[in-house]
Amino acid sequence: MPHIHILDQITIDKIAAGEVIERPASIVKELVENAIDAGSTSVKIEIKDGGISFIRITDNGCGIPQDEVQRAFLRHSTSKIETVEDLSHIASLGFRGEALSSIAAVTRTELITKTADAELGTRYVIEGGKEVSLEDTGAPNGTTFLVHQLFYNVPARRKFLKTPMTEAGHVQDLLMHLALSHPEVAFQFLNNGQEKLRTSGNGKLKDVIYNVYGRDVAANLIEIDYEKNGIHITGFLGKPIITRGNRNFENFFVNGRYVKSAMISKSVEDAYRDFVMQHKFPFAVLHFHLSGENVDINVHPTKMELRFSRQQEVYNTVFEAVHRTLLEPELIQKTEVPD
Ligand code: ADP
Ligand code: MG
Repeated sequence: MPHIHILDQITIDKIAAGEVIERPASIVKELVENAIDAGSTSVKIEIKDGGISFIRITDNGCGIPQDEVQRAFLRHSTSKIETVEDLSHIASLGFRGEALSSIAAVTRTELITKTADAELGTRYVIEGGKEVSLEDTGAPNGTTFLVHQLFYNVPARRKFLKTPMTEAGHVQDLLMHLALSHPEVAFQFLNNGQEKLRTSGNGKLKDVIYNVYGRDVAANLIEIDYEKNGIHITGFLGKPIITRGNRNFENFFVNGRYVKSAMISKSVEDAYRDFVMQHKFPFAVLHFHLSGENVDINVHPTKMELRFSRQQEVYNTVFEAVHRTLLEPELIQKTEVPD
């Protein structure tokens, strides 16, 4: 047996990056969530080769002060929480302080950022976790991340990337959910220079549904707004007439975060049962607003699966909210949209 030793920081970061960064969409998720946490009202996302060779995210948020730029790339560095108590009432999408160090460990990353009160911005280049340069630069307020050559230094992981088309699909899927969870943010997504998604940021969820799913869906929605047991549900249900062949059109957000929840899915589907044919699934975009004590978002780094403290009560509340909304009589008719 070789002697026991402690790994060097770059190796630690490369291994840890595997937890957070699986594919280009993981990078886009972390960077766009950071942009939203920074108070941006507009976020532009550009990718090439499915994001494998090139990702650029431009936001108009608060920016990072020059003397904090290097720290932002250290592991466990965050401006969002201070103690474990903060986890129970977390308002931001991020809080682990792992994304930037992870991204920098497995890519060539360039950051240009400027705060509103600074005269000049900062350009920072970091490759494979090693700092290359830090300098002043002219820049608009906000932050731009340029991420090149994912896994250029981890061939074993590069092998597991799928085709650019598949990877771009994952990015598109993710951005669709981010747009639906943040109607107040204007998103623009370009894949190889082609615009794939654009939202206005006017705060209207229905308009985002139109942008994402088109007008046939947008014309056949019923608004839901229901509050009980400390759970407030808002959003839109598809009329039973526009049911789908699979679950991909069930979109659930808890406190602004896209989640997958078998329990919520079951509850919504059970509520639709009297209204749709077997093996059909509803269209739904539901936002759940509940206090942080009722839900644990600290389950997994990608934060998609979450735990509720009172499962049965959540199931019942969702069922009742959806079932009652569907009982409204004007839902029977499909609204046809003329071409
Ligand atoms: P976390 O989001 O969990 O705090 P990250 O590694 O994603 O950790 O980011 C580290 C810190 O860098 C953030 O807490 C934030 O202060 C800063 N930061 C990252 N991206 C941006 C951005 N787009 N605009 C402003 N600040 C940012
Ligand atoms: Mg983050």
